[in-house]
Amino acid sequence: MNPQDILPFTRPDIDEDTIAGVVEVLRSGWITTGPWCARFEQALSDYFGGRPVLAYSSGTVTMEIALRLLGVGPGDEVITTPLSWVATSNVILAVGATPVFVDIDPATRNIDANRIEAAITARTRAILPVHLAGLPADLDAIYAIAARHGLRVIEDAAQAIGSLWKHQRIGRFGDFASFSFHPNKNITSIEGGCLVLPADADVDLARRLRLQGVQRSGLDGMDVDVVGGKSNLTDVAARVGWGQLQHIERFNARRRDLAQRYFAAFDALGVEARGVQLPPRDFIQSNWHMFQIVPPPQVQRAALMQALKDRGITTGVHYPPIHLFSLYRKRGFQPGGFPHAETVGASILTLPLFPGMQDSDVTRVTDALDAVLRQFGL
Ligand SMILES: *Cc1c(COP(=O)(O)O)cnc(C)c1O
Repeated sequence: MNPQDILPFTRPDIDEDTIAGVVEVLRSGWITTGPWCARFEQALSDYFGGRPVLAYSSGTVTMEIALRLLGVGPGDEVITTPLSWVATSNVILAVGATPVFVDIDPATRNIDANRIEAAITARTRAILPVHLAGLPADLDAIYAIAARHGLRVIEDAAQAIGSLWKHQRIGRFGDFASFSFHPNKNITSIEGGCLVLPADADVDLARRLRLQGVQRSGLDGMDVDVVGGKSNLTDVAARVGWGQLQHIERFNARRRDLAQRYFAAFDALGVEARGVQLPPRDFIQSNWHMFQIVPPPQVQRAALMQALKDRGITTGVHYPPIHLFSLYRKRGFQPGGFPHAETVGASILTLPLFPGMQDSDVTRVTDALDAVLRQFGL
């Protein structure tokens, strides 16, 4: 098969203005954190209703910094979902705290808010929900539980830029919200992320933690009062991210349109009656970061992926349940602990979805899935 005939499951869409803008930054003589980072942060702050926003080198370090700002550390517990990118839970380990998983709702694939209260102990400090595939977790329930128990919330909104909760953009309200600009996300800065901070947060500390804890004063003054890392965003990356942010409405509208086309084609093929679980039909709140199906148990995911690959269609696995990775098993987690996350995680499959995809690509995928299901006698 010719490389140009292969359909990836995602692909960034970088416009010519951004490419020219990057060349300008490269020629400017200032390529690391500087004026473009400040401009990107201002644009993000405007996008999130004027809240404080800092840009970082990833959507992982943003969550780690939020935990550090809250003083979460050894002896503390943080409640999160087992069905996410492992970064969500690794940051809890990174600050020395203990991840406490709560199983998902298999319909939304997000943390089941009804199970959160049973997991709260005297050591619980925060809830770290994930908006998987851009579909918001039940934030009304989560913030109500947090208020009742005096807990903080860090939303892992890595996949949810432009998603809405009850008509409000994710990140415009609430406690901490962390976004990622990895190339697979709805907008990218190559690598990068941003943290939206609550009003009571120490924004200056969040900034110091980004670069060795350094604090400058006057022309020649410098002090270091905290162990900061090295997670600043370069101006080259910020220029890419700023250029991407200009197109977010168009990108997300196109994703929604493609998702609707997937549903129309799958409905015509009757795939649900044949055992395929489709994602929730949310065309208002989700930014359609991913279109994920759960095939019926008799269809081995690897066989399905291979059959689609043979037809030039690339798919992805997002995600195996975190608690079954050896790092987590070593910490005592076992199979059977979170059955919904295990069942969904064992078979969930991400189909191609990105703004540059053609309408005909959707039919190519749905027809291929139909053919494979027939091969399995479904
Ligand atoms: C991408 C992602 C992250 C991490 O973002 P990076 O920018 O890759 O560090 C964290 N959580 C979720 C749910 C993600 O999808």
